[in-house]
Amino acid sequence: MKETYDLLVVGAGPAGLMAAKTAAEAGLKVGLIERKQNIAEIKRACSMMVVSLSGRYLGERVTLNPRNQRICFPHYGFSVAYQGPHKNFYTWQICSYKGNKIQIGGYKENLLKGDAGRASAIYNKEVLLGGLLEENISLNVDVFHPYNVLGAIKEGREVKVITREGKTFKGTFVIAADGRSSRLARSLGLNQDRKFFGTAITAGYEMVDTEIPEEFSLFQIFLNEEPLMRAWITPRTADREHFVMVTSINHGADFEGAFERFTRQGIFSPWFKRAEKKRRLSAIGNMFSHIIKPYKDQVVFVGDTIWCKESEMTGAVISGWKAANAVALALIEGKVSEEGVAD
Ligand SMILES: Cc1cc2nc3c(=O)[nH]c(=O)nc-3n(C[C@H](O)[C@H](O)[C@H](O)COP(=O)(O)OP(=O)(O)OC[C@H]3O[C@@H](n4cnc5c(N)ncnc54)[C@H](O)[C@@H]3O)c2cc1C
Repeated sequence: MKETYDLLVVGAGPAGLMAAKTAAEAGLKVGLIERKQNIAEIKRACSMMVVSLSGRYLGERVTLNPRNQRICFPHYGFSVAYQGPHKNFYTWQICSYKGNKIQIGGYKENLLKGDAGRASAIYNKEVLLGGLLEENISLNVDVFHPYNVLGAIKEGREVKVITREGKTFKGTFVIAADGRSSRLARSLGLNQDRKFFGTAITAGYEMVDTEIPEEFSLFQIFLNEEPLMRAWITPRTADREHFVMVTSINHGADFEGAFERFTRQGIFSPWFKRAEKKRRLSAIGNMFSHIIKPYKDQVVFVGDTIWCKESEMTGAVISGWKAANAVALALIEGKVSEEGVAD
């Protein structure tokens, strides 16, 4: 391909979609490369909580605005389209497998207060990604998928992005938004100095016809399993639907067995008497210390690519927005360099 983009964005999660949209709004010629066939479809486990509606996270307190159907980031001063449903939840309940619990927030009192009493809300991430994708398309971002990116090489003033399918793309800058196990970070040697803390593994199911008491709550349950495992239950936006995950940092843990024992035996099983599994979503993530300098060879790293854990939708979107603005400024000022995007 002969054409050179001002910016190539690799990965169309919340960070990449936000970066591509922001750069296109700034007048840049943008190409977005994603390995999934269906960009809006979620492949990894996600509880879909907004982090955070009731407190600050990464300097921001997000607002869900049903009037203009946007998720707003008032501190940074931008918003993204979100024409989907949301469901408030009011408490965080931490339980032992015997049912002893510590509860943060009074359920009834908070429920009565409505939005003012919520801990946060569940959104639909697939609707969010779909909305961001539409915004990108309407801004004439060239979206290339499915392409699996193998690496990036700096050649003169350009960066060449290489895909498994044999297609190459050229950009002046690249934003790497390829997530937790970023191939771009690995291929450019950015993982070399990171400390390795372990691997977090999640197996989860979206379940229908659940009967959870105080259902608009987040539950964290310590399971009677060896090695230690936890279950997490969060509402989905539809009625009587929940996302139920079992998690461990031990590879050898019996995830399916623990899930079955939790939902079919013991004191929590009545919650799932009529429940059925709708979709399985799992996730695996190595936990490294964060990347100190998220830049190399005109490639800027954002979102989950650089953190030791998940940056959450909130952090991913903020960092995509910041990186795209930095790239736009660097191009305007003719500083195609680390100095150009340093801010
Ligand atoms: C169990 C679990 C629960 C979570 N719960 C929540 C929650 O409740 N709320 C919340 O806000 N966040 C939650 N998160 C975190 C959230 O999913 C991430 O922080 C967020 O999606 C990060 O966005 P991102 O754009 O940086 O990366 P991702 O969302 O991972 O997007 C990366 C994109 O890059 C693509 N890609 C990867 N490699 C390549 C390649 N080689 N070539 C081309 N494309 C590639 C992927 O297909 C993907 O589309 C949870 C995560 C886990 C694991």
